[in-house]
Parts: sequence; structure tokens; C-alpha cells
Amino acid sequence: MKQKTFGIDLDGVCFDFLNAFRLWLNGALDINIEEREITSYYWYRSSDDVSEEEFYKEFDKFGQEGHGYRALELLPGALEGLKKIHEAGHKIFYITNRPLYALQDTIFCLEAHGFPQRENLHFAGGPQGKGKKAPLIREFNIDVFIDDSPRTIEEITTQTRATIYCRDYLYNRHLDDTWFTRVSSWDEFMKAEGFNG
Ligand SMILES: [Mg+2]
Repeated sequence: MKQKTFGIDLDGVCFDFLNAFRLWLNGALDINIEEREITSYYWYRSSDDVSEEEFYKEFDKFGQEGHGYRALELLPGALEGLKKIHEAGHKIFYITNRPLYALQDTIFCLEAHGFPQRENLHFAGGPQGKGKKAPLIREFNIDVFIDDSPRTIEEITTQTRATIYCRDYLYNRHLDDTWFTRVSSWDEFMKAEGFNG
């Protein structure tokens, strides 16, 4: 296998942000949003129980006062997959749209789990997770990128030459799969990239 450069998104790909923030939001607003109701990446569009204003207010509280990014659970197979990629001699970049206030907690968390090549951590920047990843993907000559955000998938499929994988969620099912490969687990992603067993 030739040496490649992998670009990896954090939330929704490596970490179960969705359920951690869902439980936070349910507790804070005394509501009961279930995972199957999250059919839009912008939850307030698919739930009547949360307004846009409440959503972003709690999103920031979760990350700042709550230090939610320190303690997110890993998604199954993420760390094992990253280690395999690393051991096969490939380069890894972590590119996230987390808000900048999450930087220290993110560094802490990647360190605690022993993520390979965790020094290659980049925040795309931009308010409310709306930074751009394509410029970084081009700058680092990333060959393969995996993400789950519909906005990011649309951006990077049109603005980079990387091979794109979309981690399947209800909120990205509306995307046209022509320009990327949809995967529903790390297992599927690794197999598609030629790693066996
Ligand atoms: Mg994500």
C-alpha cells in the first residue's frame, strides 16, 4: 500500500458527540430528544422542543462550563482504526470544526486516549462550527478524508481532490452519494481503505 495522508474529523467520526450533547440538552431543557429524531445536523430544525437560540446557548455551555469535549466517548473501532493507519506508515491529520474554546480539552482528551500523531491537530476555526476544511485539506495534501457534517461534505467534495468518506447519520442521508463513499462504521471505512481484519 502506498503511503497516504489521512484527514480525520473528530465529532461524529472519532467521538460520540451526538449522544453526549443530546443527554446534556435533555437535562438542561427538561426535554427528551431521542437519537432517531435528529434528522437535521441543526437539531432545532428537526425538533420542536429546542429553539435555535437555546441550542447554541447550550452548545457553548456544554463545551465551556461543562468541559464536554474532555470526556466524550470514543465511537467503536475509532482508536483501533487510527492505530492501524499509523502502524501502516500513513500520515494522520485531525481536522475539527470544534469552537476554539475547546482546544485545551481536545488536546487533553486525545492525549488521554493516546491518539496516534495527535500533534497534527487543526481547528478549522469559524464561528459555531462553520469553519472551512477544504483549505487545510489542500494545504496538507490529504488523500483521504472522513467527516459527517453535511455542510463539510458538500464543501470538501467540491473543493478538494481527496477521496471523501461520509460517516452515515440520519442528518446526512439527504446528500447525493455520487462524490463520496458512505460508511456506517470504522470497520467499513477500514475495509474500503484496504485494511483487512
Ligand atoms: Mg463531525
